[in-house]
Amino acid sequence: MFKGTNASAGIGIGKAAVIKEVEMVIRPDKVASVEAEVQRFRGALADTVAQTTVLRDDLATKVGEKEAEIMNGHLMLLADPMLTSGIEDAIKKDGVCSEYAIETTCTTYADMFASMDDELMQQRATDMRDIKTRLQQVLQGIKPVDIASLPEGSIIVAKDLTPSMTAGINPANVTGIVTELGGKTSHSAILARALEIPAVVAVNGVMDNIQEGDFIVLDGSEGIVIVNPTDVEVAEYTAKRDVFLKEKKELEKYIGMPTVTKDGVHIELVANIGNPEDVAKVLQYDGEGVGLFRTEFLFMDRTSMPTEEEQFEAYKKVAVGLAGKPVIIRTLDIGGDKEIPYMGLAKDENPFLGYRAIRLCLDRKEDIYRPQLRALLRASAFGGIKIMIPMITCLDEIREAKALIEDVKKELDAEGIDYNKEIQVGIMVETAAASLMADVFAKEVDFFSIGTNDLTQYTMSVDRGNEKISYLYSTFNPAVLRSIRNIISCGRKQGIMVGMCGEAASDPMMIPLLLAFGLNEFSMSSSAILRSRKMITEFSTEELQAVADKAMSFTTAKEVEAYMKEFINQ
Ligand code: PEP
Ligand code: MG
Repeated sequence: MFKGTNASAGIGIGKAAVIKEVEMVIRPDKVASVEAEVQRFRGALADTVAQTTVLRDDLATKVGEKEAEIMNGHLMLLADPMLTSGIEDAIKKDGVCSEYAIETTCTTYADMFASMDDELMQQRATDMRDIKTRLQQVLQGIKPVDIASLPEGSIIVAKDLTPSMTAGINPANVTGIVTELGGKTSHSAILARALEIPAVVAVNGVMDNIQEGDFIVLDGSEGIVIVNPTDVEVAEYTAKRDVFLKEKKELEKYIGMPTVTKDGVHIELVANIGNPEDVAKVLQYDGEGVGLFRTEFLFMDRTSMPTEEEQFEAYKKVAVGLAGKPVIIRTLDIGGDKEIPYMGLAKDENPFLGYRAIRLCLDRKEDIYRPQLRALLRASAFGGIKIMIPMITCLDEIREAKALIEDVKKELDAEGIDYNKEIQVGIMVETAAASLMADVFAKEVDFFSIGTNDLTQYTMSVDRGNEKISYLYSTFNPAVLRSIRNIISCGRKQGIMVGMCGEAASDPMMIPLLLAFGLNEFSMSSSAILRSRKMITEFSTEELQAVADKAMSFTTAKEVEAYMKEFINQ
């Protein structure tokens, strides 16, 4: 049995299709004519661009626009004059063949990207190696591995699945993916999830231990791979697969159903998204709107700030896609810990306590905040957009942001541009200060959304990304629970909507407590919506009061967790 990283949920059972790239021997062979060699390279470059364009279009139709973006990234690299002239210079300077010039130039870039301590750059390195291999294959007349025609019931086993290979996968024939490299957020993992194919990545030694045709069982939820399993194991995993698929199927009946508790309380069940392409999944899983659009993704992975126009188009696309349903868009939540090179931010000593989110936006009103607010207001003419301000700690921030919004409105009025004059403005309640001041803040805003990811971090003084102290990071800690209960109660007293968009909103052990506290809106990843709807419709908020009272009587996180676990397993 092998253990790896669980990259895409579900059980895969089938025969190994081991993908081995043809070994290419790349030598510094001298060429007779440097000019002719440069032409040969340019021909191969054109062919590779054409191939990549086909792959991109395939991905766009088979998987989605977001996934096709990966191939757009490749096309951008292939069009980068730094890279192509670097290769041509190597041919000219050293008089070597194109294959070798590509090898040295691309490897230099790939190594440079790989040495950076940033997941995005690691991915760039993979992309660069992918491009290198494909250019060399074109030059040598080697056909890329034909993944598209694998037989039904195949489990792909590969060192790393390059994005270009993944693009060729036919989900009807591939029942699982196992790779030696990669991580949860590598492109192959993202694509596997988008195609809903179970996958385990980062499995040590699979290429040496799995042969073509071996029988494989994999559990993409647990990160387990079994090679040539026993009959008992096959039976066990077949049963697990049936349960997984049955549950998935059963949840489909909740599509189109209202989210109402047994005692008639209407709950808004909405989605967290990161870019306009995510709207497809929101609709697929019947989200009732968007409770959190993290706009920082529009600013990442690019070399300059998105313009007002680009942002307007993105926000409008989401508003139109959701056809009038509520769409809460959070203004830029970025800062010290998230590097955006073109913003020229100095490294913060304490990024989570530093210059970020609303603090940064209010400091850079003209070049950052005003264009974003203009884009948001303009897009509000096309759907149910609400504006949400992150990382609020004091009243002055709320007032200053609201004053700027009013100023932008006047600007738009003067320009005769349409927008929703009644647009709602709310805040994320995710700091200890905001929680303690919730009664006051509730009088100043139209809604709250509780960000438990940060609220837990700031309440417990525990870095949300630090493994060593992760035992302290629990939303079930009574301190965090009291905070959540207080925020909901203050919002409800003032008659404003209170939602939650942190991960806790979809935690089955937390949902009963949140219902009892009176939370109005639950926002989560689209794939969790149907499961949560099922759960919510099975409870009565009145009956849950006793459960919440009992849970709040405990004094440690462990006791609360144990109690809630027992309660939901009943
Ligand atoms: C949160 O803090 O709970 C939240 C939803 O925002 P983020 O995870 O983007 O900080
Ligand atoms: Mg947050």
